[in-house]
Amino acid sequence: MGIKSLDELLSEGVAGRGVLVRSDLNVPLDGDGTITDPGRIIASVPTLKALSDAGAKVVVAAHLGRPKGQPDPKFSLAPVAAALGEKLGRHVQLAADVVGSDALARSEGLTDGDILLLENIRFDARETSKDDAERISLAKALSELVRAPDGAAGAFVSDGFGVVHRKQASVFDIAGLLPHYAGTLVATEIKVLEKLAEAGGRPYAVVLGGSKVSDKLAVIENLATKADSLVIGGGMCFTFLAAQGFSVGSSLLEEGMIETCRKLLDTYGDVLHLPVDIVVAEKFSADSPPETVAAEQIPDTKMGLDIGPESVKRFTALLSNAKTIFWNGPMGVFEFPAFAAGTKGVAEAIIAATVKGAFSVVGGGDSAAAVRQLGLPEDGFSHISTGGGASLEYLEGTELPGIQVLEQS
Ligand code: ADP
Ligand code: MG
Repeated sequence: MGIKSLDELLSEGVAGRGVLVRSDLNVPLDGDGTITDPGRIIASVPTLKALSDAGAKVVVAAHLGRPKGQPDPKFSLAPVAAALGEKLGRHVQLAADVVGSDALARSEGLTDGDILLLENIRFDARETSKDDAERISLAKALSELVRAPDGAAGAFVSDGFGVVHRKQASVFDIAGLLPHYAGTLVATEIKVLEKLAEAGGRPYAVVLGGSKVSDKLAVIENLATKADSLVIGGGMCFTFLAAQGFSVGSSLLEEGMIETCRKLLDTYGDVLHLPVDIVVAEKFSADSPPETVAAEQIPDTKMGLDIGPESVKRFTALLSNAKTIFWNGPMGVFEFPAFAAGTKGVAEAIIAATVKGAFSVVGGGDSAAAVRQLGLPEDGFSHISTGGGASLEYLEGTELPGIQVLEQS
């Protein structure tokens, strides 16, 4: 029993039918609420457009950031609704709530081809609840929004690749209540990752960085058994440096994982590669003067915000002969130009390897954003994935709940 595709849904005929789509519209915003990288919105367009063109009444569920399970204007999808409408070339309504009276009234008022975006699904605490019954009650309310007036059930299309590793109401539980299909984005991403996971091309190098340190440390062990080299930068590297006994000043540090990192270094010392120099600053701010120091000499009063030039040189040499490369997580705080060189240098090394024939995949919202913001060519990589955590877990060999549930009828 494979996963049903969007094409199968379209061939069943969707005109006039309610279709709930889980999209990943979790784009980075700057301090004023301006979208700094619309990549995930653009990637969500094909599925939504196909459904709207076919006359479906489309209801979209999506999240933005990490609100605390209640409405928070800072995390409203309003700017996303406007940008999505622009990219789709048609109006996208935004409901004032998730499954409340406004969402219900608007969903009842939809005509064929209309698109309604629900407010940030994480404004409802049931979305991410650990309690199955709570999540299912939200999933039921979502399914009601696409039910036909005669009582016939709507359909569910899972297209938010960036969230398929989450056991959440709009990703997982909803598929138990409605006929379900994979959207084109999810289908494409899975195909590429399958290819990457099976890639015989050796050496296989994995580059890890970013700031979700505890999430990512959890996958290292598994990746270390699969990859020939695992290059570590970004906020990830300081827990490893601490595990080697170095002081890391006020850098990002996951104290509880130091022991884990020590064991990883013991076991996989020849696979793991840490930076040898670090760009530090006094404060987490764009104008804090940068200074490059040896990785084992981070001053107590400073924090590491990028990997240094010598590290870039070594990582570049490592990557230059790789035949398969997966990169997740910026090497530094690339949003600040003074701390972007590490990310740019490593990205350029991956592009150079790709030119020489390597199969390269970039995963992660911020990593993908970095590629575009640093002016690097998007086609310099074999594939840019919209999902960081999801692609990591897939490559690790973990079953993704949001994919698993689509496989069941
Ligand atoms: P992705 O979205 O690609 O999976 P993450 O969300 O884990 O990546 O991390 C991205 C963030 O990590 C970026 O916003 C970047 O500024 C931050 N980051 C990278 N290096 C550091 C560092 N040394 N200290 C603090 N934050 C960092
Ligand atoms: Mg991120």
